[in-house]
Amino acid sequence: MTEKIKSGISMVKVLEDWGVDHVYGIPGGSFNSIMDALHSEQDKIKFIQVRHEEVGALAAVGDAKISGQIGVAIGTAGPGATHLLQGLYDAKMDHVPMLALVGQVGAQAMNTDGFQEMDEVPMFGDVAVYNRTVMTPESLPHVVDQAIKHAYEQKGPAVVVIPVSMGWVDIDDTFKSTAANYTVNYPAPKDDDLHKVLDMIKAAKRPLIYIGQGAKRASTEVQEFAQMYSLPITSTAPAKGIVPDSNIAYLASAGRVATKPAVEALPQTDLIFFVGSDFPFAQYFFNPAAKFIQIDIDSSKFGKRHHTDLAIMADAKKSLQRLIELGEQQPESAWYKANIENNKNWKAWVKKMGESTITPLRVEPIFKEINRIAKDDAIFTVDVGNVTIDGLRFLDMNPKQSFTTSGWFATMGYAMPAAIGGQLSYPDRQVFSISGDGGFAMVAQDIITQVKYNLPITNVILSNESFGFIKAEQDDTKQSHYGVDIAGADWGAVGTALGAKGFTVHNVDELHEAFKFAKDTKIPIVIDVKIADERPLPVEQLQLDPDNFSAEEIKAFNEIYDSADLVPFSKYLKDFNA
Ligand code: FAD
Repeated sequence: MTEKIKSGISMVKVLEDWGVDHVYGIPGGSFNSIMDALHSEQDKIKFIQVRHEEVGALAAVGDAKISGQIGVAIGTAGPGATHLLQGLYDAKMDHVPMLALVGQVGAQAMNTDGFQEMDEVPMFGDVAVYNRTVMTPESLPHVVDQAIKHAYEQKGPAVVVIPVSMGWVDIDDTFKSTAANYTVNYPAPKDDDLHKVLDMIKAAKRPLIYIGQGAKRASTEVQEFAQMYSLPITSTAPAKGIVPDSNIAYLASAGRVATKPAVEALPQTDLIFFVGSDFPFAQYFFNPAAKFIQIDIDSSKFGKRHHTDLAIMADAKKSLQRLIELGEQQPESAWYKANIENNKNWKAWVKKMGESTITPLRVEPIFKEINRIAKDDAIFTVDVGNVTIDGLRFLDMNPKQSFTTSGWFATMGYAMPAAIGGQLSYPDRQVFSISGDGGFAMVAQDIITQVKYNLPITNVILSNESFGFIKAEQDDTKQSHYGVDIAGADWGAVGTALGAKGFTVHNVDELHEAFKFAKDTKIPIVIDVKIADERPLPVEQLQLDPDNFSAEEIKAFNEIYDSADLVPFSKYLKDFNA
């Protein structure tokens, strides 16, 4: 006789087969049959109780971004479901696998306008890569198995709506998940195409490589090929960490969340080798006339951001590995040397700013402290706003470490939930959540979650009492400041009140004290650093070059941004005759 199993438990076993070991959320009446099943399997899958479903959803996304494994969040019918939306959009826009299991009233009550009942499928229709309501207890494990496959395959959020009555029924224990059969096949490039790549790069005078997250597995190859062909390396902001910041050929990213050397190189280049990226601002920062070689596993990306001269549908790592085999070492070019000098000048400026002791504090000394205590495999989750700029510029990373932000959806309040996900997946790694006071305030209550599960996260808050990123946009569009000043709070004291160890830092001595504790913390800590409300150096609007700006303009710019030591790139191009 066929063994019986509760439908909910059969579904939870599917999650186990796919390697899920924790799910985030808040229970509710319409989800109780699945909570019952999770309870039965609690030795295999841990239920992480958060204090807001949005935090649960963002923790699941952050977890997926850091680990590469699907993140799972749950919500009940009605508000539990709607609160998940931020995380689902984040997963969709940043292309990560995520599963949302959503409660629904029992089948017998559906479509009666019952308590908390809403038609969830249309609501999730815009965001989900897979979006189904379970119709029978027998199909529950099957639908969840399909959902996970779609989430991996289409790199986005899958939603399964489960009427509560579907989870409590005894069904035949015959369902086998397809987890063991699932494989990822990265397409390989053709040698003919790669020979064209090499010829085009050799023919260019000022080529560079621009990498995105698609090059995540290719850190060594990117660096080796770049060195072989004298290619300065630029990247998107979320691709930070793929190439170590110690590699002086790595100029980092262009845009606003950017560095000076990358912003200056991209309009000057005559060939962009664009690997595994969908950079949204290319039209503003890339030389529109540059030749463009694009490698991506998704052909819909070709020519999307810049006209493409050569498009290769292939895996970044495989392509670069083969290019290294087919290529040959080239002499170091004048263009390469000019970029290296420009980057050295930038790094010297960053280092000098890190020595600042002025009060209110600048952000550079704070990142100096983070870098000082960060372990070799630390995880950095970085929020949205000016802090995204700071994290990109000032974290000194290596490829064993992890960097994550809400790249495309730009969800304020992302960093702290993502840190929870990162710490749960990697209990032995050190985790920093770095936010502004605007983003942190949106999710601050979930410090309680860090305390409840004893997650020793170092939460750093850069408090300027302002939505500084938007304030700068109001300046750029010649608006008056409106709606961008925010009330401050003592976030260190809030952290303490929520059960963490809180620090409120006003000066360098207090900063050192807090980070001395953070270095070996075994408990969650909240370090609220009161900083000056100053705009980060606008590298996208530099006024440093005497060929383009008057002496008065340059002086005024340097006075605001303390940038007199920064040398315009044009000087290095002239020095090296590049
Ligand atoms: P994705 O958009 O995820 O693209 C990755 C690409 O790689 C896709 O096309 C995918 O198909 C491809 N791919 C995946 N796997 C492979 C593989 N194995 N081989 C080959 N290809 C593969 N970013 C900046 O750079 N500059 C800015 O100024 C900037 N400003 C921002 C401001 C804020 C406030 C925030 C929050 C973010 C900002 N960002 C900025 C981030 C930006 O919005 C995008 O998220 C980012 O540029 C996209 O990065 P990406 O192209 O690496 O990732």
